[in-house]
Amino acid sequence: MTDKAPVFETLGCRLNAYETEAMRKLSQQAGVSDTVVINTCAVTKEAVRQAKQKIRRLKREHPDRKLIVTGCAAQVKADDFAAMAEVDLVIGNHEKLDPASWARVAHGQNDRIQVSDIMARKAVNSPLIDGFGTRARAYVQVQNGCDHRCTFCIIPYGRGNSRSVPAATVVEQVRRLRDKGFNEIVLTGVDMTSWGADLDGAPRLGDLVMGILDGVPDLPRLRISSIDSIEADPALIEAICHRDRLMPHLHLSLQAGDNMILKRMKRRHAREDAIAFCETIRAARPEITFGADLIAGFPTETDEMFENSIRLVKECGLTWLHVFPYSSREGTPAARMPQLDKATIKARAARLREAGEGRVAQYLRAQIGKTAPLLMENPRMGRTPGFAPVFLDSDQPVGQIVTAQITGVEGNQLVGTT
Ligand code: SF4
Repeated sequence: MTDKAPVFETLGCRLNAYETEAMRKLSQQAGVSDTVVINTCAVTKEAVRQAKQKIRRLKREHPDRKLIVTGCAAQVKADDFAAMAEVDLVIGNHEKLDPASWARVAHGQNDRIQVSDIMARKAVNSPLIDGFGTRARAYVQVQNGCDHRCTFCIIPYGRGNSRSVPAATVVEQVRRLRDKGFNEIVLTGVDMTSWGADLDGAPRLGDLVMGILDGVPDLPRLRISSIDSIEADPALIEAICHRDRLMPHLHLSLQAGDNMILKRMKRRHAREDAIAFCETIRAARPEITFGADLIAGFPTETDEMFENSIRLVKECGLTWLHVFPYSSREGTPAARMPQLDKATIKARAARLREAGEGRVAQYLRAQIGKTAPLLMENPRMGRTPGFAPVFLDSDQPVGQIVTAQITGVEGNQLVGTT
C-alpha cells in the first residue's frame, strides 16, 4: 500500500465501519490517492459537532490531501458540510458504495455535492470486502435503512427505507472473511429484524442466521449486533436458544421502560414484551447476556415514567447498557414535543449508567472461576461469548480464540490466565 492511499476516519456505528472497509477497497480499485475520507454519524447533535471538529483536525494533519465527507451527517446536512472551507467533496450514503463515485474522484470529475435522495433507493450496494483493517472481528452488512419512524430518530433520513442484502451475498461475504482467517463475524444493519421483507419469499432474519451457520460450518463465532426484540422471528429465537456458534449476547433496541413513553416514541413493543422476551431466551440459554439502548429524558417523561426505565434494567436482567441522554433532532416529531430541562436529562442519564455499572459488576463477579473461550482483540485482551473483556497475564495471538480461566475482576474488566 503506497503512502498516497486514502486515509479513512470512521465515526458512529458498526455499519459505518463495514462501509469504510468497502470504500477503502473501492477507492483503491479506482486508483484514488491523496485523499482523506471521513465517514460521519448523525445520530445525535453531538455526533455532527464531532464530525466538524474531526474535519478541521484532519485538514490540519493532511493539508495537501483532498477531503471527502460522507456518512449520515453528510446525507442529512450536505450543504452545511459543503460550506466548510476544509471540505472538497460531500458524498451521500448511497454514492459512497458506488464504484462510479470513486472513479469520478480518481479522475477529478466531481460536483462538490453528490448526495441523492436516499428515500428513493430500492436496493443496497454491498461490495464484498476481504479484510477489516487490524480488527479481530469483522462486521458484515445484512441490511440498511429503516421503515419505522420512531419519533426521536433521524436515522431513516440518513439511510433511507429498509433494504436487504440477498442471503447468497451475505453467506459469500462471511465465507470470504472466514477464508481470510476471521474467527468471529458480526452481522450489522440499521433495523436488522426487518431483513428479508423486501426479498422474494420474504425470508426472515432467523433464516439468514441459520443459513450462515449451515453455509459456513467452520466459522467458530457469529454475533448479531442489535435487534428489535419484538420483531424477532421463530427461527431467530431458535438459533439464539440452541445454536452454540451464535454468541449468547444480544443488544436490544429497547429505548425506554415506560409504556406511555414507548407509545410516544412510536416503538412497537411494551415493557411486558421486552421482559417476556428476555425471560424466554434466558430460560433456554441461561448464559445469555443482554445489552440495550436506553434513552434518558425523552420529552414528557415524568419521574415515575423514568423509574420504569430504571426498573426495566433489573426486570430484563440487562448487563451492557448504552445510555443516550435525549438529544432533540431537528425535523423529528419528538423535537416538537415539550422538552425536559438539560439538568434533568443529564441526571437521569447518570442514574441509568449507574444502574448499568451495578449490573456489570454483578455479572463480572459471577464469572470468576469459570473457563471461557476468548476472541483476542489485542495481545492481552479478549472477549468471552457474553462479550465480557478479559485481561490475560500473557500475550496471545490477536484474532485467535484461546481458552482462559477467569481468576478475578479489576475495575470493570475480568482478569484471567491461559
Ligand atoms: S427502528 Fe426506530 S430507532 Fe431504529 S433506526 Fe428505525 S426509526 Fe431509528
